[in-house]
Amino acid sequence: MPVTTAPPTAPATPLPTYADLPALRRQDPEIADVVLGEAARQGDTLQLIAAENFTSPAVLAALGSPLANKYAEGYPGARHHGGCELVDAAERIARERAAALFGAGHANVQPHSGSSAVLAAYAALLRPGDTVLAMGLAHGGHLTHGSPANFSGHWFDFVGYGLDPRTGLIDYDQVRALAREHRPRAIVCGSISYPRHPDYALFRDIADETDAYLIVDAAHPAGLIAGGAAPSPVPYADVVCATTHKVLRGPRGGMILCGARLAERIDRAVFPFTQGGAQMNAVAAKAVAFGEAATPAFAAYAHQVVANARVLAGALEAEGFAVLTGGTDTHLIGADPAPLGLDGHTARTRLAAAGLVLDTCALPRGGGRGIRLGTAALTTQGMGEREMAEIAALFTLAVREPDGPSRRVRTEVHELAGRFPPYQG
Ligand SMILES: *Cc1c(COP(=O)(O)O)cnc(C)c1O
Repeated sequence: MPVTTAPPTAPATPLPTYADLPALRRQDPEIADVVLGEAARQGDTLQLIAAENFTSPAVLAALGSPLANKYAEGYPGARHHGGCELVDAAERIARERAAALFGAGHANVQPHSGSSAVLAAYAALLRPGDTVLAMGLAHGGHLTHGSPANFSGHWFDFVGYGLDPRTGLIDYDQVRALAREHRPRAIVCGSISYPRHPDYALFRDIADETDAYLIVDAAHPAGLIAGGAAPSPVPYADVVCATTHKVLRGPRGGMILCGARLAERIDRAVFPFTQGGAQMNAVAAKAVAFGEAATPAFAAYAHQVVANARVLAGALEAEGFAVLTGGTDTHLIGADPAPLGLDGHTARTRLAAAGLVLDTCALPRGGGRGIRLGTAALTTQGMGEREMAEIAALFTLAVREPDGPSRRVRTEVHELAGRFPPYQG
């Protein structure tokens, strides 16, 4: 029998709809309950976790597509696997869109998460044992900025800068003094909770003076930067790390931006140094998100996120919360509920019971915990300034009730959430 390659034939049955929830329910009711229950939870309560957002259905479609099946170690045109022509196209589009969106010379869109992006940036620029200057964890630094529980704290010698206890703002004099004293190989600028714009030009100046690389971890503000609602670190940093799932509203994942000079080092630090095959469904979903983020509608969204955060911060201040730094320039709000007679943990618990979901955060003064929240998800749902004022009033009602939220608060949260469903249908 002659050996021939069978021509590709159309599948006998039509392709399934990728997000086939009825099929999941039939096959695995246990997990279907989790998925549908979580979708209901997200729609019934208010998501104020600063790092969360709602992706578009188009992003979800790319994530839940057969690209999830494809192995693609390497980079477009230079893969270790066959059959990569189409996923190569997805990654090229994602890279080009990311570079154009942020005005960067080069983009690597493969990092599996924000932490993986930071790991690769360190791998590209540092050697184990090097000194790195970053915001201390007690002031809002991320785990990857030197936590003893994280690889960063194990493999590098981190020195922490902090916030001015009076203003809550970055103490740049301290940053410069520590850089002069410790001569770090890299300075990291980025935080999980800092609500103001860092002065990237000043960080660049300090890095130049002390001959350090400047790594900006823009995991939080990346979406605001893309939408023109926050200044860009790209002209100042050697490397910018980001997540794609926070304000940027894409799939869970990371990315790295740099200039042509570091492009090859960054790429090799991602694959093969710290990662294996890229998740091509996530890469395609990142491309979709970058496409969305380049539209005027997204720019309007990013500005509305900040406008909402400003109104919510002001309203919380009026309700008696001590708002950190006196307000916000971003989607992030930090607040100390102490003037209302409770700590951050208790506030978070009472707010969660009422359906207001958020986190605690370190307070720059006194070592206690405050609350940390953001407006990215609420704004995606279509809420505006009026709803922010309503939410601040609900906060006060919820935190004042030690025995659990009254029926009234829960009903109002439920009704407000119900007026702005994150997904239609
Ligand atoms: C969210 C965040 C990260 C990490 O992102 P993951 O995707 O959770 O790994 C890193 N750095 C900062 C500053 C962040 O806010």
